[in-house]
Amino acid sequence: MKVVILGAGVIGVTSAWYLARAGHEVVVVDRRDGPALETSFANAGEISPGYASPWAAPGIPAKALRWLFMRHAPLIVRPGFDPAMMRWLVAMLGNCTARAYRVNKGRMVRLAEFSRDRLIELRRETGIRYDERSQGTLQLFRREKDLAGVTKDIEVLKADGVPFELLDAAGCIAAEPGLANSASPIAGGLRLPNDETGDCFKFTTALAELARTEGVRFLLNRRIEAIEASGGRIIHVRTDRGDIKGDAYLAALGSHSPLLLSPLGIRLPVYPVKGYSITVPIIDPARAPVSTLLDESFKVAITRLGDRIRVGGMAEISGYSNDLPPARRATLDHCVGSLFPDAGDLSRASFWSGLRPMTPDGTPVIGTTRYSNLFLNTGHGTLGWTMACGSGHVIADIIGGKRPAIETADLAIDRYRS
Ligand SMILES: Cc1cc2nc3c(=O)[nH]c(=O)nc-3n(C[C@H](O)[C@H](O)[C@H](O)COP(=O)(O)OP(=O)(O)OC[C@H]3O[C@@H](n4cnc5c(N)ncnc54)[C@H](O)[C@@H]3O)c2cc1C
Repeated sequence: MKVVILGAGVIGVTSAWYLARAGHEVVVVDRRDGPALETSFANAGEISPGYASPWAAPGIPAKALRWLFMRHAPLIVRPGFDPAMMRWLVAMLGNCTARAYRVNKGRMVRLAEFSRDRLIELRRETGIRYDERSQGTLQLFRREKDLAGVTKDIEVLKADGVPFELLDAAGCIAAEPGLANSASPIAGGLRLPNDETGDCFKFTTALAELARTEGVRFLLNRRIEAIEASGGRIIHVRTDRGDIKGDAYLAALGSHSPLLLSPLGIRLPVYPVKGYSITVPIIDPARAPVSTLLDESFKVAITRLGDRIRVGGMAEISGYSNDLPPARRATLDHCVGSLFPDAGDLSRASFWSGLRPMTPDGTPVIGTTRYSNLFLNTGHGTLGWTMACGSGHVIADIIGGKRPAIETADLAIDRYRS
């Protein structure tokens, strides 16, 4: 079967890999001149099934109100007149109940753990390198009162069987020795030893190369203008450089997925939630993080990627803009500068923004559509890197008519019908 994949981010490329391995002819189409040049380019690098949970949670509406007025705020809302934004916000608020949180988290953890295992398997099988590290993640609490709130998280981790270590300040410094120089007080931390880190861009470009050797063709610098259907099937994809035909089509267009799907009558509740990162060259490795640290006060992740530190986070609801306001960079500089002073050269850091393809329930949309040969693998929000290999693996099974190794019925778009 010839499968046309729309989008060469980490989701499109992992899908291409598993489809090619299953024996299909695969073509990947993207408007950029290489893979992973949009949201998959400079994310925070965490592969964190342990922290896989939806942003929509009980207590979030009250917290969100507080965040809106903070200096170095983790959440920024720039409301314009955008009905899609309003619909998405209302749907997200509707998911902030204890029941919805449990259901959504269960789906996310299932996929994220399956995905981590597929990534380990892929590494073993191919030897792929991407500044990877398997040294866990540390959620750091600067204030005692934040640490007090960790009891609830621990209950969830215990219920899910996720190994964890609750650390005092000395324990945090033992896990991340660079914190000995922190200019900020440290109350304690929660360490998840099974989480991993790595550079999503390096991974995606390396996997794309491996996929090429399996026969996958990349049609780059092609803007997809429409997905054309007739009689309940997709007949081709129209691009600015001609039509592309296949037997099956997979939409993996990240935040842009709803724009191309809505003319087909597919209402995908994905909205861009913008985040920012800086990538800082390390000047003193002894002062730098060894793995990923999640700064709970600012909801910012600080990750070691080879000879660089990636600092990423923040959630800005402002539509499809990729602009780079200096105030956001100041927040990221402040986080890394206060916890790991003089570890990196902030004056040489590169500043980036990306649009997380977020669903209101935090879970991606993976599966079939009402068009018999159109499939979806999108809406991975905050955890696309964490969930990529698992998502690629299950969609390859679904397209190939095989039963996926994990339950996937509740990941399909149909879940929004009720
Ligand atoms: C600041 C930040 C930090 C993050 N940190 C983490 C993290 O630590 N761990 C984690 O797991 N996840 C993280 N994420 C989330 C993760 O990066 C995303 O979920 C993931 O990259 C989404 O991948 P994707 O392939 O769906 O989208 P993309 O990477 O955006 O790929 C979509 C592709 O579609 C193409 N495309 C779109 N429209 C068209 C068109 N009309 N024609 C042709 N091509 C088109 C684009 O060019 C792009 O290549 C973070 C995100 C951000 C912004």
